[in-house]
Amino acid sequence: MRIAEVFYSIQGEGVLAGVPSVFIRASGCNLRCQWCDTPYTSWNPEGTEWSLERILEAVRADSKGYTVITGGEPMIQPEIELLTGRLLELRQHITIETAGTVFRNVRCDLMSISPKLAHSTPWEVDGRLARQHERLRYQPGVLRRLIETYDYQLKFVVRQREDTGEIERIIGEIGAERSKVLLMAEGITPDQVRERAQWVVEACKSLGFRYSPRLHVDLWGNRRGV
Ligand code: SF4
Repeated sequence: MRIAEVFYSIQGEGVLAGVPSVFIRASGCNLRCQWCDTPYTSWNPEGTEWSLERILEAVRADSKGYTVITGGEPMIQPEIELLTGRLLELRQHITIETAGTVFRNVRCDLMSISPKLAHSTPWEVDGRLARQHERLRYQPGVLRRLIETYDYQLKFVVRQREDTGEIERIIGEIGAERSKVLLMAEGITPDQVRERAQWVVEACKSLGFRYSPRLHVDLWGNRRGV
């Protein structure tokens, strides 16, 4: 599997925020969000091939029971089913962080789905990639299948208040539970996140969504491996 990094930290986002976890970050993504916070797994994918044994060894070295498979887009990795099966043997609680554009039969305790909204499309950066991103970013059939199959959370990265209209449309179309919807402020610095968080919290209060912090940004800013 092509891996950008494996590291031990705390989960920064979602319902498991604060839980010490090993992160397996796969390299490679089928989307190109214009504000991608891990461009070294999407726009300019880095990393090397790791065997499953090497990945499992790294998990065994640090894990206290929670492993997160993230990316990039881990659901496009050919070995994802095998990896999750082996992690289950290690009795790991497995979170998969995905944009929800691809369905795979994996072992997973929490499918952490982050559908990408219209503001993610990189129209100003690259027209060809923007069209590809726009075609792929919202796959209602895949989202429906994911939420029917796995325990899940739906984490939306929001930039402006108007994003909540698109979120309402998506959760209505796929039949998601409101209690599983979380909003996160877009940003790669603590100041950016804090500024947007002011109105994101108000949006959560009025719409009944859950607010998600981004603890890794608060604590370390835009750093890799944390
Ligand atoms: S889906 Fe995630 S990894 Fe892929 S481009 Fe968007 S933010 Fe980056």
